[in-house]
Amino acid sequence: QVTDTLAKEGPSSPSYDWFQTDSLVTIVIYTKQKDINLDSVIVDHRDDSFRAETVIKDYSYLVHVALSHEIQEDFSGLFYRKCQLVSKEDVTHDTKLFCLMLPPSTHLEVPVGQHVYLRLPITGTEIVKPYTPVCDSLFSEFKEPVLPNNIYIYFLIKIYPAGFFTPELDQLQIGDYVSVSNPEGNFIISQLQELEDLFLLAAGTGFTPMVKVLNYALTNIPSLRKVKLMFFNKTEDDIIWRSQLEKLAFKDKRFEVEFVLSAPTSEWSGKQGYISPALLSEFLKRRSDTSKVLICLCGPTPFTEQGMKMLHDLNFSKDEIHSFTA
Ligand code: FAD
Ligand code: NAD
Repeated sequence: QVTDTLAKEGPSSPSYDWFQTDSLVTIVIYTKQKDINLDSVIVDHRDDSFRAETVIKDYSYLVHVALSHEIQEDFSGLFYRKCQLVSKEDVTHDTKLFCLMLPPSTHLEVPVGQHVYLRLPITGTEIVKPYTPVCDSLFSEFKEPVLPNNIYIYFLIKIYPAGFFTPELDQLQIGDYVSVSNPEGNFIISQLQELEDLFLLAAGTGFTPMVKVLNYALTNIPSLRKVKLMFFNKTEDDIIWRSQLEKLAFKDKRFEVEFVLSAPTSEWSGKQGYISPALLSEFLKRRSDTSKVLICLCGPTPFTEQGMKMLHDLNFSKDEIHSFTA
């Protein structure tokens, strides 16, 4: 017996169909939409529940099939699946690269510019914090995934010794589980289409959303002429993937990186201080008045807020700025 629930938030409800052979059940969801990528479909199968969610534009289409008996579920919240910690590697003195493995029955690809929530039980309560998946390195090619799908998700996470969530995350042993939500976020990949100049302003772990944006832009945007990253940190020891960034700048002449330190040692000969109009006006040189530009911004809230104001004062329009926030 098969019972099903079809939930939708979009203007028209999609229909679906299924057919079966001895070894395979195929479920077809008719969305009447073109250009659906693998990263717009999330599939989970657990016990007797099968769930397929398609995210198209601002709408989410959900098909949930319960095998053998009816199931009840709250469709309003984010869906979580348990992922296993596969590896954990030091990146700086306080930041680590975590690799999580999706369950074999899940297909999930986090779109460029989006984040997920990680969930752990801490002293009896489920605690949730947002994190932005990255590539395993700046040199991993950004290709359309080929099946079998990519089962690993990577995160660069800074451990705050006095923090609530990250010390618990850091305590996990290889093989332990952490729950991972569906992706969220308002970055739209089409913002990168036809782009000529891409400017990335990142502070501390605010670098994480820039990783996939940078990787995607360099591999998939033929019009791209220049990508410049201005990376704000306290000290040289805090810079995430510094040698990879320098290698990438050496290898790909379209890419430039500049480090700005707010608490450097006396040996530092590079740029210093917080984000400022002077730093930005020197850095944000567009090729021409008509060139298509995007400036991405991410870091601590005061950094992002001050940066946004400075960019408006420098006459960049709303469409030319994307700030990553929760
Ligand atoms: P918290 O308990 O939140 O504390 C953080 C720091 O603030 C600690 O040093 C703590 O001592 C201090 N603190 C806490 N409360 C106070 C207080 N009242 N007064 C003064 N100081 C205080 N982080 C990453 O590392 N990687 C990512 O990819 C990433 N992606 C993110 C994506 C989004 C959309 C957002 C919004 C945030 C992201 N973050 C990311 C940040 C992450 O969600 C957490 O905020 C971070 O990991 C800290 O969590 P925590 O519970 O360990 O620390
Ligand atoms: P940090 O404390 O190491 O600071 C890094 C740099 O940020 C500093 O060197 C300085 O240049 C700048 N900065 C810090 N405080 C500032 C202030 N008051 N005014 C102006 N500039 C300031 O940073 P961190 O501990 O790595 O924190 C990174 C932050 O980025 C976190 O708050 C995290 O939540 C946020 N983050 C957000 C997203 C997102 O929204 N998508 C993603 C990743 C990280």
